[in-house]
Amino acid sequence: MTQTQTLTATPPAPAPTGRRADVRNIAIIAHVDHGKTTLVDALFRLTGALRPSQEVTERVMDSNDLERERGITILAKNTSVTYAGVTINIVDTPGHADFGGEVERTLELVDGVLLLVDASEGPLPQTRFVLRKALEAGLVPIVVINKIDRSDARPEEVIDEVYDLFIDLGASEQQLEFPVYYTNARAGTSRTTATGPDSSLAPLLDEVLRTIPGPEVAEGPLQFLAVTLDWDDFVGRLVIGRLFRGELRRGQVVAVLRGDDSEAIESKVTQLYRARGIERVPVENARAGDIVAIAGIEAVDIGDTLADPDHPEALPRIDIEEPTISMQFRINDSPTSGRDGRFVTSRKIRERLTREAAHNVAIRVRDTETPDAFEVAGRGELQLAVLVETMRRESFELCLGKPQVLTRDIDGVLSEPMELLVIDLPEEHIGAVAQSIGPRKGRMGHIEPMGSGRVRLEVRIPSRGLIGLRSELLQETRGTAIVHSIFEGWEPWQGEITHRTNGALVSDRAGRATGYAIEGLQPRGELFIGPGEEVYEGMVIGEHARPSELDVNITREKKASNMRAASKDETIRLAPPRKMSLDQALEWIAEDELVEATPTIFRIRKRILSASRRK
Ligand code: GDP
Repeated sequence: MTQTQTLTATPPAPAPTGRRADVRNIAIIAHVDHGKTTLVDALFRLTGALRPSQEVTERVMDSNDLERERGITILAKNTSVTYAGVTINIVDTPGHADFGGEVERTLELVDGVLLLVDASEGPLPQTRFVLRKALEAGLVPIVVINKIDRSDARPEEVIDEVYDLFIDLGASEQQLEFPVYYTNARAGTSRTTATGPDSSLAPLLDEVLRTIPGPEVAEGPLQFLAVTLDWDDFVGRLVIGRLFRGELRRGQVVAVLRGDDSEAIESKVTQLYRARGIERVPVENARAGDIVAIAGIEAVDIGDTLADPDHPEALPRIDIEEPTISMQFRINDSPTSGRDGRFVTSRKIRERLTREAAHNVAIRVRDTETPDAFEVAGRGELQLAVLVETMRRESFELCLGKPQVLTRDIDGVLSEPMELLVIDLPEEHIGAVAQSIGPRKGRMGHIEPMGSGRVRLEVRIPSRGLIGLRSELLQETRGTAIVHSIFEGWEPWQGEITHRTNGALVSDRAGRATGYAIEGLQPRGELFIGPGEEVYEGMVIGEHARPSELDVNITREKKASNMRAASKDETIRLAPPRKMSLDQALEWIAEDELVEATPTIFRIRKRILSASRRK
């Protein structure tokens, strides 16, 4: 926080029941790269939300590395602009269905949404989930077709696709009458028709004020819904949410109403903030309709209500989608443990996971029979993979067990989570992709030509069938496929998915792999490591060409006395080792194996390292 100035809010006039005219709360729904960040930057420039010194070099809603790498937005961020005397709060929505819990909570904050769509790519499946939730919640949409300046822009077709999508998602008649703006976010211009003259983005903001209703305010004692948690280095934990009823002052004592029947805890609001531009500014008070961040309330969790202690009335809790996949997170007890990462103890891992579960309602963490392992459940394999990647970047070391699908008994039928998988790829790879999907129990649906030789395939597939599939599809299509999945509900168990049929090649000792040993082992299977790489007993160094497991010596040196073999050394031809991504490794391992993840490396190992104990 760089700002110290305190804003005085509108005097807390007796709040009548009705809608506020001085505030709008909106969310932006956009597929990654369709231009959300650029648009928000342009709105900041237009409204002067940034001081001149605040160059927009670091883009405002920009995501961290990991989000870029995986092509998703993970955290919702809040910002605001002031336009024509109205505060427009802009809330970012997470782009992926695995963050379903986050999506629904974010939508509680707003009364309308901007659906931002690339004029060439059209609506992509990732936005489908969020849009469906927004339409179900009765939010008012405005459609923005961005990148109208692209040479391959096809705005009319894209509008038709958006229209079909709305119908498909069950939009109401009113929602179907969405206003449309065509923008070039980079240039900061907009039009009301695809070919019409350009003006600034002001007409879009006028439309927001006109179309999206101000927040409804109820008269009465305080009710604030905690929607998300954040952290500030100066004041500590912050709870961000929306006031639905009444007013809130800095210094006020509030009752924290939790989901269970536990006694309400009273706590004091030590600081109160609103977003202004990209900053948080302290304010003295807030009233119904405002989105604020509150410091000082320690015992609050997402979904809780902060209420007037004399009128402890809770708001309805937000339903969160249940986890679908679980995975064991264990301490790294391999011989290489602690060399690479700073956090290796079970205490550190437990703290980190507990923190994650507190922020991220879609994640559940359970203790197991051993203090060295935790069971972590989440909405989909991608969410768990993202958590592992984040922890690696924070210098954690972990060992991960094979992901398990969480089944349910629905009316006596064993059922499993299903996903709608959408693959956008060049036509010539359809055959290869179909071959990957079949054994994973995927059912091909719609195939839609996209022009320029690309097609969009829709596949219904069990959640467990997705593990490792993304990387496989990228390999098969030489990186040209765009893959998205959306949770689609539960279906009866789809039958066994054949796991790898081959056994593992396991190192029987510690040391370094030699080219000589690798050459000798190549006919036995496919190796995961190259010459010079460190190995330990129980480490999996390759996939055996047969179903059985084989203990091998990959550190063998050729005998120095054998001159003929020595000269032969120069002609050794080694196949490049197979390097697996985290997702591929998690898919590949069997129940008795683990993936060792450190900040710099993935290794595969047996759960039991000692060859004699494994036998
Ligand atoms: P986000 O992932 O949705 O936040 O997308 P960004 O705002 O980061 O934009 C992705 C890319 O599209 C960037 O390279 C932008 O410069 C570019 N971009 C954004 N808006 C426009 C536009 O209207 N026209 C063109 N040609 N490029 C744009």
